[in-house]
Amino acid sequence: MKKISIIVPCYNEEESLPLFYEEITKVMKEMDYSFELIFVDDGSKDKTLEVIKKLREKDEQVRYVSFSRNFGKESAMLAGLQYSKGDYVTLMDADLQDPPSMLPEMVKYLESEEYDSVGTRRVNRKGEPVIRSFFARMFYKLINHMSKVEMVDGARDYRLMTRQMVNAILECKEYNRYSKGLWSFVGFKTKWLSYENKKRVAGETKWSFWKLFKYAIEGIVAFTTVPLTLAAYMGIFFCFVAFIFIVIIIAKTLIWGDPVGGWPSLACIIIFVSGIQLFFLGIFGEYLAKTYLETKNRPIYIVKETERR
Ligand code: UDP
Ligand code: MG
Repeated sequence: MKKISIIVPCYNEEESLPLFYEEITKVMKEMDYSFELIFVDDGSKDKTLEVIKKLREKDEQVRYVSFSRNFGKESAMLAGLQYSKGDYVTLMDADLQDPPSMLPEMVKYLESEEYDSVGTRRVNRKGEPVIRSFFARMFYKLINHMSKVEMVDGARDYRLMTRQMVNAILECKEYNRYSKGLWSFVGFKTKWLSYENKKRVAGETKWSFWKLFKYAIEGIVAFTTVPLTLAAYMGIFFCFVAFIFIVIIIAKTLIWGDPVGGWPSLACIIIFVSGIQLFFLGIFGEYLAKTYLETKNRPIYIVKETERR
């Protein structure tokens, strides 16, 4: 019998976990597969780990990994993938925003051997702040222009993959992980399923606008170097503008003589150009910082305990 690994990253999910467990067991019972349910406790500050341990006591299928502190969802997903042993592997949120009921359908696509992965995307962003959806859309437009790797707008982290694809993902050993990009980077055939956005069952989202913004920058830096090239183009553009200015000024001096003036415009130009320079210095800094973190080679997460004691 084939095995399916279900990976659930959890950060402060004591309220959602029992509800999630109830839903997922319903689905697992209906399916003709063996399962392992891997909860990754991402350094929760509430009773999440205790809840998981209780589930483990009554259910052998439950496994868990608990981090020494909060390392972020990306690290939690990586840990889950590394611990998983199944032939098929799926990632699901604990808040039931990723409906477990879709699993049987997803598995069918992989069983047909036509696809290596089934991804899910939201058809709408209902229930999300307008400004947040706006920036999200802008981000996907921007990154798809700049990066060769395609990022699907509205794609969730909820997906099912074959063991082969999981191993390919695990081959990507970078420290700054951006899964949405990694999945398209490794390739393989993906079937996309859509569903309506759902509200979380309990607790609240851990993503503030600022956190999402930083995550977006992470995605850009991880998957494209276009911003670096932009500096060069900008430089050429300003050289060109300067050249035209020089010609105009020489012509003016020759025709009308040289009355001193125009220092306000000079001040504006200096401020503008130094602003642009600092901006690009910032972009360079961003890439340098990421390179710095990569070379340090620190562990992506630190495990405090697992179910094997
Ligand atoms: N999560 C995590 N570590 C974090 C933040 C979130 O493991 O630092 C988990 C969280 O418990 C949930 C999933 O990632 O299972 C998605 O988080 P959330 O629902 O807050 O994000 P949203 O659905 O709002 O994008
Ligand atoms: Mg959620």
